Amino acid sequence: MPTGSETPFEALAELTRKLESTTKRLEKRRLIAEFLRSLPREEVGPAVLIAIGRIFPEAEQKALNVGWATLEKALETTRQVRLDARPLTIRDVRRAFDGIAAASGTDSVRARRRLLSSLLGQATEGEREVLLKSIFGEMRIGVNEGVMLEGIADAAGVDPDLVRSAHMFLGDLGRVAEVALSEGTSGLAAFGVRLLSPVKPMMAEMADDIDAVLEEHGGTTAVEFKFDGARIQIHRKGEAVRVFSRRLTDVTESVPEVVEIARGLPADSFLLEGEVVAVDASGRPLPFQDLMRRFRRVHEIEALRKEIPLNLYLFDLLYLNGRSLMSSAYRERWAALERLVPPKILAKRIITSSRSEIESFLKEALEAGHEGLMAKQLDSPYTVGKRGKRWFKIKPADTLDAGILAAEWGHGRRQGTLSNYWLGVRDGGRWQMIGKTFKGLTDQERLDLMDRLIALKTREEPWVVHVRPEVVVEIAYNEIQRSPHYESGFALRFARVARIRDDKGPGEADTYARLKELYAKQFERKGKAYEEV
Ligand code: AMP
Repeated sequence: MPTGSETPFEALAELTRKLESTTKRLEKRRLIAEFLRSLPREEVGPAVLIAIGRIFPEAEQKALNVGWATLEKALETTRQVRLDARPLTIRDVRRAFDGIAAASGTDSVRARRRLLSSLLGQATEGEREVLLKSIFGEMRIGVNEGVMLEGIADAAGVDPDLVRSAHMFLGDLGRVAEVALSEGTSGLAAFGVRLLSPVKPMMAEMADDIDAVLEEHGGTTAVEFKFDGARIQIHRKGEAVRVFSRRLTDVTESVPEVVEIARGLPADSFLLEGEVVAVDASGRPLPFQDLMRRFRRVHEIEALRKEIPLNLYLFDLLYLNGRSLMSSAYRERWAALERLVPPKILAKRIITSSRSEIESFLKEALEAGHEGLMAKQLDSPYTVGKRGKRWFKIKPADTLDAGILAAEWGHGRRQGTLSNYWLGVRDGGRWQMIGKTFKGLTDQERLDLMDRLIALKTREEPWVVHVRPEVVVEIAYNEIQRSPHYESGFALRFARVARIRDDKGPGEADTYARLKELYAKQFERKGKAYEEV
């Protein structure tokens, strides 16, 4: 008999109905949180799995092994089951599923059918519907994993990113929910790290503008030098040291100097993150290709070590002496990092609320031969494998000289002026469009430019004035992206007009070939090269 504390399966069936009847994410989160909080701890895991349409966690790679024929036969016999059966509980369902999966041997088909039939026989019609959905291909019932994950976080009062990280490690949302509800943040954090196994690195978003970064980070942010090298994570457990690349490849053998540093640090176990940069005799960064030679080499590492020395710059500490720091705030991780490692191998950084301070720090980084800055939110936990606004990369924009092919009439404040410029690069006798921008010019500059464009008009559509491409503008942008929007196949990200190049005629605008070259370079550095490591 169900004890008083066993929750009827009907409660879960009712939850899935409610979840299905609303499209509001917040409402779903609230319903889930309320439900999970009402459950005894041992029912949390099973309930979560059923609600997301899973019978067994993905990590277990287990299946019910129930085919159509078995299910049909089970359903036939179900009708004969007594109607006065006691109400089914969540735990009954869990036990039945486990029993069905465990059935083996010559008579296993019949055993499974019998168990299934008894389970379905105990269910009311509404409950049976949920069970059948679950059994059929483990399809989605009430919610997807993303919403469930947030509901679990709400129920436990913890950061959803922590729940997400723990889920990535455990591959069992049911177990994650149990831990979240019974042990909270500290329990979840324990799943963040397995020493000597690589961790997916946290990633940054490209910053559009420094003010926006400051605002997003609550007025104050930490900015570190962004080094133009290869990211590594250094694990140490007792005497064992392993170094992994950003692609989670074991590169321990390629970086003996890093291993030596790790062995010399005063701790039993840790997980450090940083960047290695190839440097010349004076300590200035060498081109990325030189660094890659270090990584590709398998033999004679010692000889190459002299030829291409590496500098290490550490910027995070995710684990220290038996304790995960993943859920600790960045500022605390940094403080622990500072205590652990000598200042020489620590990334340079400042904490600031001032745009101009960030600008001069950026200048300093560039002058020292580095790539730019990373802005990190002081209160943020480490979010495994996630790209987000807690880390922003701040790099100087690249520029390209483009021709203006057309301009659109503006809206709002820009009504009545031509303001959104269509940009193109030369491709033999024609132009290839690579984006649009309305940013960068003052109102007066826009008005002046409008007069010139109207004089160059070739034809007009309701919103667009097409012009002879004679005006060349220097365009600052953050990245060249692949894009299906233009025939050229490319688009500039965060394009803005840096200045009007009155000194250049259309024949001097950049070419399509150059654009492709710039893209390839960008790709080579950020994509292919890393892929090899
Ligand atoms: P990106 O490859 O342009 O997306 O920039 C992110 C990469 O910058 C990271 O994966 C690191 O390899 C690198 N990086 C350099 N300096 C830092 C730093 N101080 N903090 C975090 N990442 C850094």
